[in-house]
Amino acid sequence: MFILGASRSSHPKEFAGVLRAEGDVVKEVLLLPGTLSSGESAVLRLHMLPIDPSACGTVHSHPSPNPRPSGADMALFAKFGHVHILVAFPYDERSWKAYNHRGEEIKLEIVG
Ligand SMILES: [Zn+2]
Repeated sequence: MFILGASRSSHPKEFAGVLRAEGDVVKEVLLLPGTLSSGESAVLRLHMLPIDPSACGTVHSHPSPNPRPSGADMALFAKFGHVHILVAFPYDERSWKAYNHRGEEIKLEIVG
């Protein structure tokens, strides 16, 4: 999966991007410019985004094995979108989770 590869290649820094979806299927991930080389918090970068009506949510990685949303993550989830993916170290098929805008875990199918 693209998100897992991007998370791995940015480790130990965070990776962040914006999701576009059709229905319950995520179709596209837009990387945030500068995310991969910046030492800034990925979540802070997402907070500074202008609201894009085509974006359905966000994705970011945690360089730790903890896929639970932090307080800053929860504030981000509530701000816009309804699908938020969190990828935790070691970024394998079982180390990511999807959440809704309230931070509740949801099922999600990812293509690509
Ligand atoms: Zn986070």
